[in-house]
Amino acid sequence: MRYLRPWVFAVLLAGAAALQPARAEWRERTEAIMGTRIYVQVWSTDAAAGDSAIEAVMAEMRRIDALMSHYRPESQLSQINAHANRRPVQVDKELFDLIKLSTYYSQITQGAFDITYASVGYLYDYPSHIHPSEEQIDQALPAVNWRNMLLDEAHHTVRFEHRGMRIDLGGIGKGYAVDRGIALLKARGIAHAVVTAGGDTRILGDHLGRPWLVAIRHPDDPKRVITRIPLSDAAMSTSGDYERYFDEDGQRYHHIIDPHTGHSASKVRSATIIAPTATQTDGMSKTAFVLGPEKALEIINRMPEFDAVFVTPDGRVLYSNGLRPPAPRSQQH
Ligand code: ADP
Ligand code: MG
Repeated sequence: MRYLRPWVFAVLLAGAAALQPARAEWRERTEAIMGTRIYVQVWSTDAAAGDSAIEAVMAEMRRIDALMSHYRPESQLSQINAHANRRPVQVDKELFDLIKLSTYYSQITQGAFDITYASVGYLYDYPSHIHPSEEQIDQALPAVNWRNMLLDEAHHTVRFEHRGMRIDLGGIGKGYAVDRGIALLKARGIAHAVVTAGGDTRILGDHLGRPWLVAIRHPDDPKRVITRIPLSDAAMSTSGDYERYFDEDGQRYHHIIDPHTGHSASKVRSATIIAPTATQTDGMSKTAFVLGPEKALEIINRMPEFDAVFVTPDGRVLYSNGLRPPAPRSQQH
C-alpha cells in the first residue's frame, strides 16, 4: 500500500478537484443513529441527488436499528432475547442471516467473536460505572457459547439451548449497516463516497484519483493520530478500549469482552482491521482485540483480504504482513 503524507495529499487533492465539472461537489451529513455517529459523504454532480442519496443511507440505518437493536424492546432481536430460551423465535431472513454470519466469525476465531458474549455483557453498565462481581461472572459465563444457539435455516428461527443466554449484534451490526449504505449509494450511481458508523468506515471509490487517508487515533488522546491508512474501495474498523469504559481501582472496564473470561479484554489498546467490506472488518476487529496481536495475526496473515494494525499497552504499533508503514526500521514488526 502506498502512503501519502497529509500535506502531499491536500496539494494533490486541490489539483484534482480543479479538473472536475463545475457543478460536482461533495455533500455530507452527520446524524446520531444506532447509539453512534453516522457520517455520510458523497461526490455528486447534482446537489439534490446527492442529498437524497445521503437521506436514503440514513433511513437504512434507522431501519436496521429498529430491526436489530438490543436497546429497543420491540426490535426482533429483543424478541429473541425475551423468548428464545423457551421456544424458537422466528425473525426476518435478513436478521437470521446476520446471526448466522456471526457464528461463522465465532467458528474461525475460536469463539473470540461471539454474539452470546451478551449473556455476561449485559451485566456491565459503563455510563453508570457498574461491572459484575466474579461470582456474577461465574454464574453467567456458561451461557456464553454460540454453539448453544440453534439456528433453523428452513424457518429462520433462533432457539437458545441455555437458560440465561442473550445476544447482541453491537459487534457486527454497524459494519453491516455501513455495507448496506454503500450498496444503496452504488445503486444510485454514486461512485465516490464515505459511510461511517462509529468505528466502522467504508470507502466507495477514491478521493478524486487519490486514496482517502483514514486515521487511527491515539488511545489516550483523540486529537493525536497514531497512523493514517490509505483506503480506496475498502473498509476499516477500529475497536478501542477508550470508546465505552470507566476506570476503577486502576483497572479499565470497557465494552470489548473476552467471551472465555467474561472480563474486558486487555491485550491491546486498539485493534484495526482493513478488508473489502465493513461487515468483515467490524466482526474481525473484536476478534483482533480479544486475541491480541500474536494469535490474531496468525489468523489474519492467512486471510489475504485482511490487514490489521494494533496499538499495544506499551504504545507500540504492530502491523500485519500486508501493510508497509513509513516507520523507521526500529518501529516495524
Ligand atoms: P463500535 O460499537 O463503536 O463499532 P466495536 O466495533 O469495537 O465498537 O464493537 C464493540 C461492541 O461489540 C460492544 O459494544 C458489544 O456490543 C460487542 N462485543 C463486545 N465484545 C464482543 C465479542 N467478544 N464478540 C462479539 N461482540 C462483542
Ligand atoms: Mg464496530
